Amino acid sequence: MGENRYVDTRGAVEEAIPFTKAVVDGLAPGGGLFVPQEIPALTVDEICALAELPYAQRAARIYGAFDIDLTDDQLARITGEAYGNNFDTPEICPITSLDDDIHMLELWHGPTSAFKDMALQCLPRFFSVSAAELRARGQLEDTHMILVATSGDTGKAALEGFCDVDGICIGVMYPDGGVSDIQFKQMATQRGGNVTVWGVRGNFDDCQTGAKNVFNDGDFAASLHERYRVALSSANSINWGRLMPQIAYYVSAYAQLVAAGSIERGTEIDVCVPTGNFGNILAAYYAKRMGTPIRRLLCASNENRVLTDFINTGTYDISERTFVKTPSPSMDILVSSNLERQLFELTERDANAIKGWMGDLREKRGFRVDRDTFAKMRELYIADSVDNEECLRTIREVFDAQGYLMDPHTAVGYKVAERLREDGVPVLVASTAHWAKFGNNVYRALHELSLADDLPGEVAKLTGCALNRLIADEAGISSIPAGLSELDDLPIRFTEVIDGNADAIRAAVCAFLDAQAR
Ligand SMILES: *Cc1c(COP(=O)(O)O)cnc(C)c1O
Repeated sequence: MGENRYVDTRGAVEEAIPFTKAVVDGLAPGGGLFVPQEIPALTVDEICALAELPYAQRAARIYGAFDIDLTDDQLARITGEAYGNNFDTPEICPITSLDDDIHMLELWHGPTSAFKDMALQCLPRFFSVSAAELRARGQLEDTHMILVATSGDTGKAALEGFCDVDGICIGVMYPDGGVSDIQFKQMATQRGGNVTVWGVRGNFDDCQTGAKNVFNDGDFAASLHERYRVALSSANSINWGRLMPQIAYYVSAYAQLVAAGSIERGTEIDVCVPTGNFGNILAAYYAKRMGTPIRRLLCASNENRVLTDFINTGTYDISERTFVKTPSPSMDILVSSNLERQLFELTERDANAIKGWMGDLREKRGFRVDRDTFAKMRELYIADSVDNEECLRTIREVFDAQGYLMDPHTAVGYKVAERLREDGVPVLVASTAHWAKFGNNVYRALHELSLADDLPGEVAKLTGCALNRLIADEAGISSIPAGLSELDDLPIRFTEVIDGNADAIRAAVCAFLDAQAR
């Protein structure tokens, strides 16, 4: 057990490390990302047989195939807790098949109604068990505080994942006034004794820059260790412990499609993913590497189309780009961190090439890959982007034609799948959020309003929950996930708003740790 070790994409870690350490460290010292030395292979029969197991056991099988340094019992417990009654369906991630052989993999049946739950119900448990293992081996002294900067979805999913996990506490920062009413209430009503939430004066970039400055402050780390025996860590999607759970649902989805009779065993499918940080689509790539019959990966962007342009040209260029506001804010991203792992794989793990490109990205705000890498990327990926109005139009069209209501992120994926699909090749689309997380724009879509239009007076006055009830009534939808529909009834616990500079964040972290110590 645990023979498969982790190397880093920039070659700074000389001796490969075990899974437990890769999870607790998150990021390699030189800024590189961890990947397993061996990608395990499964046969199509082994993959299809997974359909006979409950989802938790499917996930445990796949994690086990990665030969990580946790026991089968530990994996069974982690996945049993992660994928249980906290999801609103025992299928965990069911597939709804639409016309034209487009199959929607619904990844939003978890506690916070976004696909981040699929990974963030596992990561905290990996983290807690891994930290305990390292402590038992005498390799770790401190407990951890997770610090998260969020534009909305990640913060809530991380709070829910880390809530009441042993030996870990969590603080989440979101831009004050920059998240929806639903997203604010989801975070501000969070239960748990080890959690806190701060609004930050500024935008998401301010939150993220503030968090980064605090993470990179060696003196502060030393003082946290001295005063509290606490180390800071992050829960973002560069952690391999978030990626591996995402690989599992693509492998599982193939088995589900075969079991449902939607495809023949062995038929190749395309997978289309609405993409931001490149974590979700990268997981589909690794599922393909493991032997899942996936033909091509369809990368769907919103108006922040840096990835689509990269896949089409081989040049990643953010020097002239500005951030565009879209109805799919979780994909509003310029630097897609997980692309680094994909490039590492495409160059057959050439850490020097990666170090060079990432250096160019930092210093020159862009890089260009060599011809060989570009050619390999073009064999795997095709990409397209969807503008804001087309996104809203897609929500309306698919609802009118098929009675299926999508959130704006999923609509971007659906539209690209529809455009790029080839006859006879089934497409699996990653459906990444429940529509009720983004009720404002879903209302606009269904009422043929544009993104710039104000909601009509009476509607604008409604809380997020009341607006969702109105949409559901009008659309003839019988239920909204409990976690979203009950928000107006829960007490607001967190209302503190802080400045976004590193001093203010450091002070807030210390005040929270003081309170935790009492
Ligand atoms: C995070 C998120 C995405 C983007 O996923 P990446 O792994 O960052 O590419 C898409 N849709 C929703 C709803 C999300 O929350």
